[in-house]
Amino acid sequence: MRYVRIDHPGGPRWGVVKGEDVLTLSKPPYEELEYDGGRLALRQCRLLAPCEPTKIVCVGKNYAEHAREMGSEPPGRPILFLKGPNALNRPDGAVQAPEFVGRLDYEGELAVVIRRRARNVKEKDFADYVLGYTCLNDVTARDVQQQDGQWTRGKSMDGFCPVGPLVTDEVDPAALALTTRLNGKAVQQGHTADLITPIPRLLEFITAAMTLEPGDVVATGTPSGIGPMIPGDRVEVDIEGIGVLKNQVI
Ligand code: MG
Repeated sequence: MRYVRIDHPGGPRWGVVKGEDVLTLSKPPYEELEYDGGRLALRQCRLLAPCEPTKIVCVGKNYAEHAREMGSEPPGRPILFLKGPNALNRPDGAVQAPEFVGRLDYEGELAVVIRRRARNVKEKDFADYVLGYTCLNDVTARDVQQQDGQWTRGKSMDGFCPVGPLVTDEVDPAALALTTRLNGKAVQQGHTADLITPIPRLLEFITAAMTLEPGDVVATGTPSGIGPMIPGDRVEVDIEGIGVLKNQVI
């Protein structure tokens, strides 16, 4: 299934993508699908981030080449940090940094959207807890991250987490090419087979420590090639089988 969340009279609405259309749902698709009879043209829908996170759990340095470009060896265990729901941004949403930010970076990532409350999940059961996979840009104020010595302020500013355009369970998350483009030029070219901690083990690791709720998001880390963006730039995170998350820096 391929799911979107759209702006709709009366509030945000989940839908299932069928061909060129969206079949709207009367409630989120976490448990079972309840269609409300609506059918809309996908291209006429204003897409929202296809998730409703109470938290966005991110993994730092989960690709060896990226750890090295940041001047460190790959970590021995996953390094987790959070972005707040305030950081959520929609597909096509503008990314804007406060004036005090000196360097704003893109980080293209594969993200997992959770479908069921998850606590002490075992690796082998991970798929029961996953609604699907999507693209995410872990926008980072790099200078602020480095000044602060920890990552909350630099990673979790308003709008620093575009997610979308859709969530799909029709891909193998361990076998996806990921490309980030800046103004049309490829700047990151990774593959999820290179994740140091793959998704099943990541969910076991995270949920041993904290409960994940339906609609929560896990960002799996960025490949090498991170770099800065400036106002006017167009950034795209393109993941095989999912789609392209496009945002403009203003
Ligand atoms: Mg990241």
